[in-house]
Amino acid sequence: MKKVIIVGAGISGMTAGIILQNSGFETEIYEKNAVPGGELTGWKRDGVYIDNCINYLMCSKEGSAMHDLWCEIGMLGKDVRMYSKDRFFTYKGNGGEITYWRDKERTKREMLELSPEDKDVIEKFFENVKRAESMIMPIEKPMDKMGPRDFMKLGDFAKNVPAAQKAYKGVSVKDLGMSFKNPVLRNSVMLTHPEMTQAYSFIMSYAMVTSGSGDIPEGGSLAAALRIADKYKKAGGKLRLNAPVKNVKISGKLADGVVLEDGTEVKADYVICASDANHTFTQLLPAEYMPKKLRKCYDDKDHFSVFSKYHAAFIVDGKMDVDPDTTFWESEGIKVWDREIKDVGFICYNYDPTITPEGKTSLQMKLFQYGKEVDNWFELAKDPGKYEAKKYEVAQALMGLIEKRYPETAGKIRILDAWTPVTYARHCNAYRGAYMAFVADKDTKTVTTPGVIKGLKNVFLAGQWLMGSGGLPPATAQGRYAAWRICKKEGVECR
Ligand SMILES: Cc1cc2nc3c(=O)[nH]c(=O)nc-3n(C[C@H](O)[C@H](O)[C@H](O)COP(=O)(O)OP(=O)(O)OC[C@H]3O[C@@H](n4cnc5c(N)ncnc54)[C@H](O)[C@@H]3O)c2cc1C
Repeated sequence: MKKVIIVGAGISGMTAGIILQNSGFETEIYEKNAVPGGELTGWKRDGVYIDNCINYLMCSKEGSAMHDLWCEIGMLGKDVRMYSKDRFFTYKGNGGEITYWRDKERTKREMLELSPEDKDVIEKFFENVKRAESMIMPIEKPMDKMGPRDFMKLGDFAKNVPAAQKAYKGVSVKDLGMSFKNPVLRNSVMLTHPEMTQAYSFIMSYAMVTSGSGDIPEGGSLAAALRIADKYKKAGGKLRLNAPVKNVKISGKLADGVVLEDGTEVKADYVICASDANHTFTQLLPAEYMPKKLRKCYDDKDHFSVFSKYHAAFIVDGKMDVDPDTTFWESEGIKVWDREIKDVGFICYNYDPTITPEGKTSLQMKLFQYGKEVDNWFELAKDPGKYEAKKYEVAQALMGLIEKRYPETAGKIRILDAWTPVTYARHCNAYRGAYMAFVADKDTKTVTTPGVIKGLKNVFLAGQWLMGSGGLPPATAQGRYAAWRICKKEGVECR
């Protein structure tokens, strides 16, 4: 039985592990943290659970190969209850209000009522949301190994999604927003995605909700990660926690295995690096092995940026009467670093009683952090006292905005935790604290990088950084692709 070592127990590494175990390999996953899941995680503060990942799970609806893969790895299953969202989000500001409903006809009607003068922009938007609903994640084999027949099997996806992308070619989220005459619609488009992102990303995210494919599994992200780890262990996989890998040991064109931080050497026939790609090529492997396509993304910072977020979690005594899930509103504003942010929002987790204490309301606020702002957090973190103070200063200011907007929370709300891009770098070795992959701008095509390494025959890559802007489906698909490549090499069926 051939042995495979996987670096990282994120969703990508664990997916590769489950599939390889089911295909007859012996695998071991080495994970630096005490808990599996990587960015798919959550934790408790003062006994209250804070969820830190799944806002939308693409392909949560039955009937796609990706949904079957979710079930196979334990993300979803017959015994996992799902929470359906009736909306993407609501925005209240500029003297009006708009909700992006799951029912897109309703949203369209309400947009046209709000702003008849934007009819053409609205019609085009919904035409392309409909197209983007056919988005699927190909998982049968790596995309670089797919031929015309494989693409034909993808049905509407192969024709509709490129058409929607073409319709918004060269258009950023900000451009899309600015194309609306109505200020409520204009601002609403610029809340969920970084402004420089291709407009198509916003359309695709909304289409995920309208197609009924963006629901959330009960228990949130940590419960999902633990279910997946459980599947892996039940399939016979060995999960080594608190076991950081120092580097991959290479002899010529082959890897012998890995060396752990404590100096232990572990031999293997294959190695899969399922850690953050930048970490892989700065720590685990010499940088010259980085695939060219990936190198191009890191080098071309003007077109491939990365972003992270500042987060604060709050708990309120009592059940607030707020819309479920995400609400943004125009506030009096908060200044973080040099940027004034007026439109702020929270996610309310009351939709899942298993993660919200009885009689309480669990809220989270998030602020995009870009470029210099990310640098500022890393600089500040060199002085733990100042870093903690700044984190809580921002959380305090955000809490003030909630109290102002929802006076019933005054005196009943408190901060549970606050975290920053530095948290993701420390927890997952994430490049610049990013938790999604490259954000290709409006002038750039998103890039998919083959998970193979030129010059190394038995080392493969997995993880979200290999595919577009990342996220759980790409990370999971890439885990499967890495397993597929090893199965193919060994001439065994990939199960
Ligand atoms: C707040 C937040 C919200 C999100 N919302 C969504 C959402 O709604 N929908 C969606 O699809 N996606 C969402 N994502 C993105 C999603 O979480 C990621 O795309 C996905 O989890 C990445 O998985 P991965 O396995 O590629 O990487 P990771 O999760 O980063 O896994 C890599 C693992 O490798 C480990 N590791 C790194 N270096 C080493 C080493 N040297 N030795 C041993 N182990 C190592 C890390 O600790 C980690 O466990 C969100 C992420 C965050 C943080």
